[in-house]
Amino acid sequence: MKLSEFAGYGDKMEQLMRSVQAGRIVHALLFEGPRGSGKRTVARLFAQATVCTGREKPCGVCPACKRFLNGTHPDVHVLRPEKKTIGVDDIRALIDALALKSYEGGGHIVLIEQAESMTASAQNALLKTLESPSGDALFFLITDAPGSLLSTIVSRCQRVRFHDLSVEDCAGVLVRRGLAPGRAAQLAGMAQGSVGRALEIDGDGEWQALREKVLGSLEALKGRADVAGAAAPLETDKGAEGDALDIMELWARDLMAVQCGAAPYQSAEAGRLSRCRLDGRALLKGVIRARMQLASNVSWPNALENMYFQLINTPTTDTIGRTGLSWQR
Ligand SMILES: [Zn+2]
Repeated sequence: MKLSEFAGYGDKMEQLMRSVQAGRIVHALLFEGPRGSGKRTVARLFAQATVCTGREKPCGVCPACKRFLNGTHPDVHVLRPEKKTIGVDDIRALIDALALKSYEGGGHIVLIEQAESMTASAQNALLKTLESPSGDALFFLITDAPGSLLSTIVSRCQRVRFHDLSVEDCAGVLVRRGLAPGRAAQLAGMAQGSVGRALEIDGDGEWQALREKVLGSLEALKGRADVAGAAAPLETDKGAEGDALDIMELWARDLMAVQCGAAPYQSAEAGRLSRCRLDGRALLKGVIRARMQLASNVSWPNALENMYFQLINTPTTDTIGRTGLSWQR
């Protein structure tokens, strides 16, 4: 994949790439954004481009690119938490390695993934290196929680912010990765524009089966007499409460969108959404309440049935509050 093909970031990345090629890049870059927004992929492409000796960087075929891609480039240092944290010893070992001249003469490249997992002492040790750069190292810090980094670290970095892509851009990226357009659109909607999440869902048959079960359960809810029957298939899924509620939350947001005439994330499900008689806002409230109940040790079957009873008592409304479809009809 080329940097410029990274939908949603093309302009920003080309601009940064020009600085790389002109040798004007800052000493440290902080790639920050939500999980699955592509920051790690782009940071790696960037790092690869800085070592690439081909014409169009990153070319992917020159010896330097090949060494980068198979993890054997001697001047590329990748740190990621092996257990839960990146400790001060890891940073010290890195600083020692950076004190040596780079093997290929192009400078050192440091990629710190999940940078927020650096302990406070690790961050302090790194700070000294970022403050007084000795030599020619270029740092890429990658994080989805920049708030967990020392402000002194953040202020030494040029920040590159990532956001979730639009569902259309996300689907475009998935198609370029070889998925069929229909499937790509469906996954992009379910992942709300997160490429990483879409790829996770694609490989997670259990999650997809749970989603079908959750939607089937919501669709079975037509009146008071249906509550127990609709809830029953979900009640036995031990440990899946969190995922089930996440699926319901996205469904609720999409119902709200459809009920006020806006585009849903899951546009591939537009028909199913418009046939659903649940009120989006009431479902969202129900999800929030159920999460609070679970946190205070209410059992999952009780929390779920409470939610369903509340839901069937709430008529569907549109944006201006007019009562539209009613459960009792
Ligand atoms: Zn190359």
